[in-house]
Amino acid sequence: MKIKFKVSILSLCLMASSLAYADPHWTYEGKTSPEHWGELDKKWETCHTGSNQSPINIDHTIKGKLDNLAIDFHVTNETIVNNGHTIQVTTSDGDDVTIDNVKYSLKQFHFHSPSENHINGQAFPVEIHFVHANDDNQLAVVAVMVKEGKANPVIDEILKDIPAQIDKEEKIEQPFNFSKLFPTDKHYYRYSGSLTTPPCTEGVTWFVMKEPVEMSKQQITQFQEALKHSNNRPLQALNGRLIVE
Ligand SMILES: [Zn+2]
Repeated sequence: MKIKFKVSILSLCLMASSLAYADPHWTYEGKTSPEHWGELDKKWETCHTGSNQSPINIDHTIKGKLDNLAIDFHVTNETIVNNGHTIQVTTSDGDDVTIDNVKYSLKQFHFHSPSENHINGQAFPVEIHFVHANDDNQLAVVAVMVKEGKANPVIDEILKDIPAQIDKEEKIEQPFNFSKLFPTDKHYYRYSGSLTTPPCTEGVTWFVMKEPVEMSKQQITQFQEALKHSNNRPLQALNGRLIVE
């Protein structure tokens, strides 16, 4: 009897701790929207208290001597998921971006609509985030803006692969030519920011490509319909950060 009692206490403790460590639900609207993210979990405080947050309006840049972004495309796309926050493609054999002589590999890319970052006060209908990590797990996000224009064949591939069911991860059968999601001009704005979703971790290096790529009006609409809601965090204060171009 005594043993049984101990076991049930233990299982209660385990239950309580697994509940405590499960990430709370967060959204872009309502009671769990961006202005509340910092209150939803102790680990997410940075969403409120951080001073180097993303996204930002890219304006008043300073001229640096930045090399064009060096991307080595050799990507195999693995899976695609609509996780309720975004549509995300997980990659293996990630492409490499070399930043300050350090190699970063692509882990995943995902979509925001409308764009999160703005350029000179202008929002774009879609922004693609290519999330890279180096061996020390430092993150670098390469952001590509999308404007309305010609249909992008790679986007059609992605659109047809989006699973109808939320959180259902599907394998991508036909690997697509990923370089078509990047502008030919590899100039960019660089700044230090954060993840734009909880836990809003800082120390993320951002590379926002200056030249947008194009998607047709119909492709943009299809993306917005798959996302079901806007998924852009509001602009964050610059707090004296420098944006280099
Ligand atoms: Zn993102």
